[in-house]
Amino acid sequence: MIEGRTLERIVETRDPAGTRALAAALAVAARPGDLISLVGELGAGKTQFAKGFGAGLGVTDTIVSPSFVLMAEYRGRLPLFHIDLYRLAGAAEALAGGLIDERQGEGVTLIEWAERLEDAMPAGRLDVLIEGAGDDPRRIVLRAGDAGYTRYLEALPANWVAPTAEPATERAPEGSGR
Ligand code: ADP
Ligand code: MG
Repeated sequence: MIEGRTLERIVETRDPAGTRALAAALAVAARPGDLISLVGELGAGKTQFAKGFGAGLGVTDTIVSPSFVLMAEYRGRLPLFHIDLYRLAGAAEALAGGLIDERQGEGVTLIEWAERLEDAMPAGRLDVLIEGAGDDPRRIVLRAGDAGYTRYLEALPANWVAPTAEPATERAPEGSGR
């Protein structure tokens, strides 16, 4: 806690739509210059989170994994910069490549595999730690690096529950007239 403010929240999502909905809800809190670190194993849902965050920012272009470019930029309520460090050897290489530049001050920067930047990551950031893979539910830890980032945690209603796709068995069959 900093001045009585919660620095961490943990939510669960059961499918990719739930993770996207979480990210979209958080995007309401976005301000220019924000930095969000996405951490989790391959297939955890970091890119799904980025897609949902973009949707929340009003990005209409399709957000794809930027694995073959260092950084992709999208236009929304604020510019969104999406970085994926998966194929990068290390922090030095990333920084030498101009990973963090002044343009990002005008938008929100999401970094997948941000832990690879180690100490080069500023403390002022939101950490999104995604645990789980495959069809398992995801446990998602949201951690504010400083008091400025608690607004993301506060943007999420206290009783927020991820929406899940309706199970197929409960859906009326096609043409059943229901
Ligand atoms: P990463 O970027 O972390 O490598 P992706 O977002 O590209 O992961 O992929 C996550 C995969 O896991 C997708 O195939 C998605 O459909 C699946 N998935 C299953 N459940 C969830 C969930 N609760 N949240 C996010 N993705 C999920
Ligand atoms: Mg990814």
